[in-house]
Amino acid sequence: MTAEDSLAPPRSLYIHLPFCRRRCAYCDFAIAVSGPDLQDRYLDALLAELRLVTRTSPAAEPLQTVHLGGGTPSLLGPERLERLIEAVAAGFSLAEGCEFTLEANPEEVTPAVTREWACLGITRASLGIQSLSDPTLRWLGRGHDAELGLSALGWLRESGIRQVSCDLIFAIPGQSTAAFLDGLDRVLRFQPDHLSCYELTLEPGTTTRRLVDSGRYPQVAEAVALEQLRSARARLLAAGLIRYEVSNYSRPGCESRHNLNYWRGGTYLALGAGSHGFLGGPAASALGLPAGQGVGVRYWHYRDAATYVRVLGQGSSGIRDSEQLDDSQLRLERLALGLRLTEGVEVAEAQLLAASQRLAAHGWLEVEGQRVRATPAGMEILDRLTLELIAA
Ligand code: SF4
Repeated sequence: MTAEDSLAPPRSLYIHLPFCRRRCAYCDFAIAVSGPDLQDRYLDALLAELRLVTRTSPAAEPLQTVHLGGGTPSLLGPERLERLIEAVAAGFSLAEGCEFTLEANPEEVTPAVTREWACLGITRASLGIQSLSDPTLRWLGRGHDAELGLSALGWLRESGIRQVSCDLIFAIPGQSTAAFLDGLDRVLRFQPDHLSCYELTLEPGTTTRRLVDSGRYPQVAEAVALEQLRSARARLLAAGLIRYEVSNYSRPGCESRHNLNYWRGGTYLALGAGSHGFLGGPAASALGLPAGQGVGVRYWHYRDAATYVRVLGQGSSGIRDSEQLDDSQLRLERLALGLRLTEGVEVAEAQLLAASQRLAAHGWLEVEGQRVRATPAGMEILDRLTLELIAA
């Protein structure tokens, strides 16, 4: 994707559904722990925002991807989900083969509900399994056990939903490398199309962070985290998946097209509390956001679901604020995002290419013409590499 293409009219839509049954011990996302009443009012607000956005027509192109993220979108239930999907289909034009993803937690998955999701047009399900060790799932504050996680995966595989992805977390205090890899092997037996494998981050303010800071649980040593990452990578590659992003693996052709668009610096619309969107100038202006010539505009919504509902009820858009990114900011952002991808990123500036060559001499980057990509060793120190290049 060229720099110009990346500011083209949006062809991706993110919708945030912030509800969860409870807050997991490691989570600092914008979520709402609430009952069906707020869900109904939230859905009304979301559909009001959707109508406001489609009235201004910033999506001049058919949508290639729609991603229902959270929170726990699967908590919405088939009826509310149908209302939402019908509104999306009525408000936007959907390209043929549009990737329509639903994030789900095992607690809401049943054989019947997965078939309903398939009938509603969900083409990709992303299942938050996280671990297959029951003590670890309890420590993470998850509401499901390993058996339900695997059952949910099996039901999704049989549901008619075209692609199934799983999330697993490594470097969890108290979970041995053997237990982590055993869980990974059990997931791989279901031949998922896609697997996201994330290192646990101990976010400030979370229960897991407090447990580690208080000394009740030891922080996972860097060498152990690295061992888990390398072993997982080897097993995933041996299972025929390709690594296309630092934490994401897929069968060839089953990459998350929605997330690829983010990492390639593409534009996307966002709806819902706490969600962030990114648009080129004309599309941002159509939404009423300040936008100069040739800039990218990032915008974000009120984070709190109740505030979002109230603001929409007053006829406002739910957008809290926005910022304009000029050409040099956009280039740096594209560099940081693009380096996450194994395909790498095009770099035009001479000093950046020279710095890339210096890092390539250490085996951390590969440089081919103007394309720069991180090697597997470079992926292990990606934040450091990115900072060094940005400073160049
Ligand atoms: S289900 Fe996901 S979004 Fe909800 S609290 Fe747990 S980690 Fe956070």
